[in-house]
Amino acid sequence: MEWGTRWHITIRSDRADNSPAGVTVVERVVDSPAELRRLVEAARADPHVVAFPYRQVRELVGNEPDRCRRGHSYLAGSATRPVRDWWPCRCGGHLVHFCRMCSAVQVQPA
Ligand SMILES: [Zn+2]
Ligand SMILES: [Zn+2]
Repeated sequence: MEWGTRWHITIRSDRADNSPAGVTVVERVVDSPAELRRLVEAARADPHVVAFPYRQVRELVGNEPDRCRRGHSYLAGSATRPVRDWWPCRCGGHLVHFCRMCSAVQVQPA
């Protein structure tokens, strides 16, 4: 796992096709500036779109480890499921996995 940059964009339009409230709100999450630009340009070009605020967020991307360094599977059952915890850090934070079988600690991102 590692820290990645994503953008959350909310597109509001006054198109009321399926909505009794008369507005349609679409939430999208994109991984790349190119995708964001495409959505923003499409929103600008659409006369029904009334607002499209977006914000940049940092998220841990990638898969969580499924076993500890000694090979105990984290997926097998409640006896081996890791204790997960969150360590704050200047880089954004770390996800800590504590193996119940052998007490090994894994920190993501490393
Ligand atoms: Zn850190
Ligand atoms: Zn273990």
